[in-house]
Amino acid sequence: MNLKDRITISEALKTKEGSKVSVAGWLENLNVLGKIAFLKLRDGTSIMQLVVSNKKLLEELKLIHPETVVLVEGLIQKGQQKSGDRELVAEKFEYLGFAEAPLPIDFSGKIATSMDKKLDWRCLSLRNKKDHSIFKVQAKLIEGIQEWLNKNGFYQVFTPCIMGTPSESGSEVFEIKYYNKKAFLRQDPQLHRQLTIAGGLTKIYDIGPSWRAEKSHTSRHLCEHRTCAVEIGFIKSEQDTMRIEEQVIISAFRKVNESCQAELKELQIKLKIPKAPFLELKFPEVYSILEKMNKKKQIGDTLDTEDDKLLWEYIQKEYPACEFYFINGFPFAHKPFYVMNNENSKYARSVDLYYKGIEMSSGGQREHRYNKLIDAIKEKKLNPKSVEWFTKFFKYGVPPHGGFALGIERITMALLDLDNIRKAVLFPRDSERFSP
Ligand code: ATP
Ligand code: MG
Repeated sequence: MNLKDRITISEALKTKEGSKVSVAGWLENLNVLGKIAFLKLRDGTSIMQLVVSNKKLLEELKLIHPETVVLVEGLIQKGQQKSGDRELVAEKFEYLGFAEAPLPIDFSGKIATSMDKKLDWRCLSLRNKKDHSIFKVQAKLIEGIQEWLNKNGFYQVFTPCIMGTPSESGSEVFEIKYYNKKAFLRQDPQLHRQLTIAGGLTKIYDIGPSWRAEKSHTSRHLCEHRTCAVEIGFIKSEQDTMRIEEQVIISAFRKVNESCQAELKELQIKLKIPKAPFLELKFPEVYSILEKMNKKKQIGDTLDTEDDKLLWEYIQKEYPACEFYFINGFPFAHKPFYVMNNENSKYARSVDLYYKGIEMSSGGQREHRYNKLIDAIKEKKLNPKSVEWFTKFFKYGVPPHGGFALGIERITMALLDLDNIRKAVLFPRDSERFSP
């Protein structure tokens, strides 16, 4: 038998009765008792029934265990189900990968297994159809994002993950040994995206990882996560970045809707495609909304998780059709130095996008004027020397610009109503887990 001639199971299910085919996959339902056995073969594209009545094959099958990978040669025949599916009458098996028994976890969903245990045995738990669906949806989400950006003149760029200085506060970064020096893993591709704009590439996006060393253990945070981070030059205000972000989201949702009906059904998700423009809530009005919800904040406070929840309650009541919304004008005191402040105001041109009450992205307009940048650094009591590698370029002509960084696992989690972000990552990294 030749693996080269193998067709996928989804192709086999559409093949004419009587055709001789080879398919390969993982064996399930390996109960060989009588003179005929009905097994299932799964290959990641679909699943099909194998009928085995050949005596030699039945004897062979008694010695192997479920999840063994085989190449099967056989004849396509009409399935017994009314659906008109095909099944395969097996004539020959070639064993490609043996599985031991018992399996360390049940991934069929029949026996409850904790998320931790599933993640310990990730490539077994991943064999579940629901888990496959999550990552197929995620792939299409990114495809939809990239499709819109590529069509609209954006270029994908690659910026460094290793930083000579910590990008923001210093306390939450991973330190690494860089030859005989100290370096840091980036928390965000932010600063290099801005420098790319300064370099004259004015419509760009970077899809890549960022690292956060916080010990916090929530259902929304990972130590390693990925963003699609967009940066645009020659903007008039943060409103321009918001209009682009809406289109990116709509394109991503459309893509998922048109390519992932089976997966959405498997995950029992009814996808709502949002409409532009998204609702915008602004500081300081956000304080009055929260006050109406019986939460008194001090002017200048930023939002915490409880505020996020209250605002989502408010949105659901006042704008029931709305799942996506922006919050604009976060207090400058809580924002990094590179954010543009509104003139004579405490509120920055700083925008977060929320979906179902959870933060999906942060962004807005950046400060491009050298003097203002230096003032902000002083105001925030940072050492100007430590960011000089970044700020010095702003002496040589940088256009107004802005952008946003959209959390990929976050949006996957929210779209699919997953209760934990770890389920939206193949191999999650958190404060306790860095294996497998
Ligand atoms: P949060 O307030 O939710 O902790 P943040 O404001 O610290 O997030 P940003 O710097 O704004 O994070 O990062 C941009 C986006 O990346 C976030 O809006 C979120 O979607 C995602 N993100 C940030 N930190 C994490 C994390 N630790 N795990 C997963 N996704 C994250
Ligand atoms: Mg943020």
